[in-house]
Amino acid sequence: MMRRREFLALAAGAATLKGLPSPKIKDVSVIATSPAGLRLVVVKVTTDQDGLYGYGCATFTQRAELVVEAVKQYLRPLILGKPADRIIDLWRAMDASSYWRNGPVLNNAISGVDEALWDIKGRQANMPVFQLLGGKCREGALAYSHASGKEPEETIDQARALIAQGFKVVRLQVGVPGLAGYGAAAGQAAPPASLTEGPVFEPLPYVRRALALFERARKELGNEIELLHDVHERVPPRMAVQFAKDMEQFRLFYLEDALAPEDIAYFRQIRAQCATPLAMGELFNNPNEWTPLLKEQLIDYIRCHVSQVGGLTPALKVAALAEQCQVKTAWHGPGDTSPVGHCANVTLDLVCPNFGVQEWSASTERILEVFSGYPEMRDGYLFPNDKPGWGVEVNEKAAAKYPFGFGESEQRRNLNGGWGEVRRRDGSIIQQ
Ligand SMILES: [Mg+2]
Repeated sequence: MMRRREFLALAAGAATLKGLPSPKIKDVSVIATSPAGLRLVVVKVTTDQDGLYGYGCATFTQRAELVVEAVKQYLRPLILGKPADRIIDLWRAMDASSYWRNGPVLNNAISGVDEALWDIKGRQANMPVFQLLGGKCREGALAYSHASGKEPEETIDQARALIAQGFKVVRLQVGVPGLAGYGAAAGQAAPPASLTEGPVFEPLPYVRRALALFERARKELGNEIELLHDVHERVPPRMAVQFAKDMEQFRLFYLEDALAPEDIAYFRQIRAQCATPLAMGELFNNPNEWTPLLKEQLIDYIRCHVSQVGGLTPALKVAALAEQCQVKTAWHGPGDTSPVGHCANVTLDLVCPNFGVQEWSASTERILEVFSGYPEMRDGYLFPNDKPGWGVEVNEKAAAKYPFGFGESEQRRNLNGGWGEVRRRDGSIIQQ
């Protein structure tokens, strides 16, 4: 049997057994990169132990510069020199440090550090994070991808291609001619006469178009394939209630973000009037937003954006509360999530019994040039890599080739990655 002294001596010299003593935080830096034209923010926490560091996702693409500054100016001085192995304690210290809390900028900044600390713990233990959390309770994560045509037939063709790749769940969106829709480009048509310039959206034509799409999709794709749809909080609450009822006949996997976070009380009415499964939460920042929906079982899927709620640590608590309430998880997984964030999503998917489905964005060549370890897609399921921590390495030289603004439209670049305006015909602003 190996003696402790021999074990420690071996540990000190072997990279795979490094870090039995508590590592201290030596530096906190930020990688700001845009390889796919979307601003990604990744925090790197370095420790005083040789080669022991970690990465966390802090991506809030519309306000990315502010997250970078929040990490550098507020979190870095707070945590330098602290033990990197006290993740929960550091999370609480970072959260309490601003007094006013639960906002998207600060939650993302905290997430960057939180996930980097989980990465460090995994690397220290020489285990993937999913092992630290108790190990897999499924082999792969059921994933869905997006079919988004200008016309219904284009959407349905894209859905067929995804089904041929093995996807068992597909999100369908379709453009509305002349209107600024969500999730699909508008078809060729003159914009409606309006009192404003720039993109115009009207809820009623959108709702009619979506219903027509699903009627056709069920006829052409059949009933075996699971279909879902994202309203993206674009209709008034009363119309959302009617829309959820009208969509009931198409047996959705779920209807996503039928209401804005400000209107969540209307979920009671949707629930009372139809059986359409409901998913909600990508805009949530604050436990007071998701807790009532879970406790009252007003939704079927909670789909927070993990970095928006503050990282892996709070996401585990959301998942555990949801499990107690018979609600499944469907973590937000768009292109404006860094590969570290995608790894955190898939980790949660594999370790939480109440996992439902994972939104999936394919990687690009440039993303893979900057980040290794991206989850693998096979036959409609996602698989994490099995390296220690998140198993992600960042090529910082490659990251620097794609600064913020790379691949963005002029308007988006002028707004530092922020979104522009969409208005109703009468000139009033809508939530996007
Ligand atoms: Mg969405």
